[in-house]
Amino acid sequence: MKELHAHLNGSISSDTMKRLMAQKPDLQIPNGMTMIEKGKKRRLEECFQMFQIIHQITSRTEDILMVTKDVVREFAADGVKYLELRSTPRDENATGMTKRSYLEAVLEGIRQCNEEELDIEVRFLVSVDRRAGSTVAKQTVKLAEDFQLSTDGVVVGVDLSGNPTAGHGRDFLEALTEARRAGLRLSLHLSEIPNREEETKLLLDLPPDRIGHGTFLHSSRELVELVKQNRTPLELCLTSNLKGQTTPSSDQHHFGFWYRMDHPVVICTDDKGVFATDLSQEYQLAADTFQLSKEQVWNLSYEAIDHIFASSRTKTALKERWQALKPSML
Ligand code: 5GP
Repeated sequence: MKELHAHLNGSISSDTMKRLMAQKPDLQIPNGMTMIEKGKKRRLEECFQMFQIIHQITSRTEDILMVTKDVVREFAADGVKYLELRSTPRDENATGMTKRSYLEAVLEGIRQCNEEELDIEVRFLVSVDRRAGSTVAKQTVKLAEDFQLSTDGVVVGVDLSGNPTAGHGRDFLEALTEARRAGLRLSLHLSEIPNREEETKLLLDLPPDRIGHGTFLHSSRELVELVKQNRTPLELCLTSNLKGQTTPSSDQHHFGFWYRMDHPVVICTDDKGVFATDLSQEYQLAADTFQLSKEQVWNLSYEAIDHIFASSRTKTALKERWQALKPSML
């Protein structure tokens, strides 16, 4: 499997969370504030409050290093062979963590996992948080460019995420255009909530290389046409949308709309910690809900390779591996 949409701080498992909390007894975090259990739901706004709580728990560079290594190992244990992780660089005055030292910690975690020779390739996208505004967005892209040059192909792109009710897409056009110019690939969260046509149209004009969620794109014929014309792949996260209540039920998930249209879609987890899932479960849920055959599931996973941000050499190697695995998977 390939995981292309995973936010680091949303992907922390309950085991790792327990270890982090044990190191910070002064933080009084009530139960259920870092994970939404099976069968439970929250409003989208509450999900974003959960991220703020998690950020209090991962406030030091050593936390970020540990979390990165654990998350990569867990994806590898789930059978993910190629992972694009994303995260928002963060300053924490109380601990002295800076956006730069934050990114260094993530990239060190990825490097250490490489040394462990896990069966997984990892790339990284630097996240621009909508809540932080346009000036921070430009600083973040500048940092992404610095690390793109110094990490030999690990930093491959930029993500636009954060609370979709905060700010407006136009605030980020300049920063995202600069990222593109520098050769960074763009994955943008678009139309996660209703009535964002104007903003989405503006951002689709960049154009993005992939779209995160796109939950309400199909309520506008014009947006659907634009996305179809560019064949922009959609990163779809079923459990996340169900638990965050932007989708009423799995059979009404927009996976069905785009899949039936033969539009490129990639199944992802979003925040495997917060939403208590993993990529195998997400494939299973899509297969059960939309009655996909084993062959169709294999094809979904195979076609995801076309949409990764790594080099064509990596794509070719993954495709060969997938072809070799095919007989055992069907
Ligand atoms: P981090 O970037 O701190 O590693 O991961 C958590 C952050 O990812 C959140 O604070 C938020 O900015 C972003 N994020 C996680 N899940 C979602 C989502 O479903 N939608 C959006 N727009 N942003 C998300």
